[in-house]
Amino acid sequence: KLSTRLTKIAEQIPTGSRLADIGSDHALLPVFAMRKGIITEAIAGEVNVGPRDAAQRQVNEAGLKEKINVRLGNGLAVIEPGEVDVVTIAGMGGVLIVSILSEGIDKLAGVQRLVLQPNVGEENVRRWLLEHDWFLSHEQILEEDGRIYEILTADHLPDASTQNQQLYAGITLTARSTDHQVNDYHVDQDSLLRFGPYLIQEGSTIFQYKWSQEINKLEKVAASTGKSENEEAQAKSAAFRQQLQTVKEVLVCLQ
Ligand code: SAM
Repeated sequence: KLSTRLTKIAEQIPTGSRLADIGSDHALLPVFAMRKGIITEAIAGEVNVGPRDAAQRQVNEAGLKEKINVRLGNGLAVIEPGEVDVVTIAGMGGVLIVSILSEGIDKLAGVQRLVLQPNVGEENVRRWLLEHDWFLSHEQILEEDGRIYEILTADHLPDASTQNQQLYAGITLTARSTDHQVNDYHVDQDSLLRFGPYLIQEGSTIFQYKWSQEINKLEKVAASTGKSENEEAQAKSAAFRQQLQTVKEVLVCLQ
């Protein structure tokens, strides 16, 4: 059975798409999407020989050799412009995902949708999408086997820039304390990039759990760097405190 994480990524692929799954490892995602009739053909890209061989075996065993092309290469180098409609990149850090997108930006001509699942550093991915006019159309957060994952879906739209401007214009969250006092908190673009503009408004239990854990981590870092005399460390500490404050304010609003 396919993991919930990969199933939810597959659900973001429009029916009838041609898919490139970059960093495909065992090619589980393209094989599943093909069996479900979601995609018509796929490229499974891998930079490493071991995972490439595993992907080829999986594809052969599934009897999908004609439909899923396993290719060895770095990032988007394995595709030609116009060859696919959707690109998925999952299970890597946000910084690596961003470098794959940047290095292969020419290959994205004709791609309609990106489905990205960074294990960490989601903020980098949102920022890249915003700066390159990919409209962030959907976000998911889920927990599986004790880990929390975010899945970001972005679309190539003619008015992506305008739509993103609205999405990241900033929002106001209202908190009601137990004594019925009402406080408004403004969430600016930087915070929306960090928390996710949809995820923050949805405020799910998993989202709250993720960021309360993050508070614990930040508090530990703030406590350890705060004592230092060093100027750089103090600036870092101040930045952490600022972040901490935002996270706390957001969580108050969601309670
Ligand atoms: N996408 C699968 C998933 O989400 O379950 C596999 C994730 S696995 C942790 C990451 C895979 O990405 C590894 O198999 C690794 O070899 C591959 N990878 C890392 N950097 C890559 C790059 N620049 N281009 C293609 N594949 C890459």
